[in-house]
Amino acid sequence: MILPEEFDVIVLGAGIAGLSVADAVLQSGKSCVIIDPKKPGGGASGAPALLINPAAGRRAKKAWMAEKSFDIISSHLLYIHQQTRSPFFEENGILRPALTEEIASDFKRSITKYNWNEGWLEWIDKENFSQRFPYIGNHHGGLMVKKAITVYGDSFLRNYSKILSKKYLRTVYGQYPTLFKYKDKWLVDLGGGAEYEAGVVVDATGYQQIQSDYWKFLPLHPVKGQLATYYFREPLNIKTSLSSLGYMAVSSIRSRQISVESTYEHHFEDLKPTPQASAFLQKKLEKNLPGLLGRSSGCRQWASVRITLPDKMPVIGPHPEQPGLFIIGALGSKGMLHGRMAAFQLIRQIYEGIPADKEISISRFL
Ligand SMILES: Cc1cc2nc3c(=O)[nH]c(=O)nc-3n(C[C@H](O)[C@H](O)[C@H](O)COP(=O)(O)OP(=O)(O)OC[C@H]3O[C@@H](n4cnc5c(N)ncnc54)[C@H](O)[C@@H]3O)c2cc1C
Repeated sequence: MILPEEFDVIVLGAGIAGLSVADAVLQSGKSCVIIDPKKPGGGASGAPALLINPAAGRRAKKAWMAEKSFDIISSHLLYIHQQTRSPFFEENGILRPALTEEIASDFKRSITKYNWNEGWLEWIDKENFSQRFPYIGNHHGGLMVKKAITVYGDSFLRNYSKILSKKYLRTVYGQYPTLFKYKDKWLVDLGGGAEYEAGVVVDATGYQQIQSDYWKFLPLHPVKGQLATYYFREPLNIKTSLSSLGYMAVSSIRSRQISVESTYEHHFEDLKPTPQASAFLQKKLEKNLPGLLGRSSGCRQWASVRITLPDKMPVIGPHPEQPGLFIIGALGSKGMLHGRMAAFQLIRQIYEGIPADKEISISRFL
């Protein structure tokens, strides 16, 4: 009989949450295996394009711990880029056209209401907005979120995983793990008997957490979203991503494409892209950037599920009845902004006993 290989921590799921947890584990001098039935970025974090937008939501409310989380993720993206030389992100800002007078008032209010750092937000009135961004359709002025990043999730996470495996992270991709408990250890079976064991397991499986019996007591809610990437023969003359009922991601590093996203299905049968959502995204592109669609040479659809809690905040912490089992999840629409910070808080809680911030702690549901 072959004995299971021992690690300090088993991480399930190689999205932004799982890879960040594995990174934090290695940084605290512990050993770690990460397991994913797909590949890094096989879930929602692997979106072809995502925005790191600290002024999200209809009213451009400042995100929780916006400055700190933004610093943490932006310096990390830069680090992975420097290690791999792979271009997968750009800090190119986000433009938020105000589609109604009411939204325009909310945006203007956001600037004074939320105590933003100098230079993060700029309100642009209707006339100036039309002059500076003549390609944008109907608007009542708009907000420029200057501290914002466009990131290609699939490419980022692939590179992130590569860097971590050079630092002795064991990666197991493409095999479905079954988790079970034996005495005071957690074991993972990949189909031929127990392969790995650890005292600590972190569940970072995203949408899978909703199906898990362990987390039934959490009011996790799935929202399916679809993203259409349109390709062009010529570079687009649009430098800044847009956020307007979903988003439109562009950057100079992939200047011949635009990814149009919207997350809107609360009840869905399967996880694949649908023709209805494709038609909706096409209309959205036409409405916001009139004339662009006709120049496109092709389009690819992608769909996935993000998980939220009623308070729209992440959750991290121990299972109340299963010693050694932890969760990081419900990253909602700000997974890229908050994922890394939440992961490091979780590992500090496990190994240094530093309690997580109450806003994201699992204790708020116990
Ligand atoms: C259409 C769409 C657009 C989005 N846009 C943005 C955006 O612009 N900005 C932003 O910040 N966020 C955005 N999000 C949200 C963001 O993607 C999520 O908050 C974030 O990806 C969640 O990360 P995660 O690591 O928790 O989950 P995931 O990225 O889903 O990772 C979970 C991983 O677990 C794996 N897994 C599943 N079952 C198991 C199992 N049994 N064992 C082991 N592994 C398993 C999966 O294969 C997957 O790789 C978007 C989401 C969607 C759906």
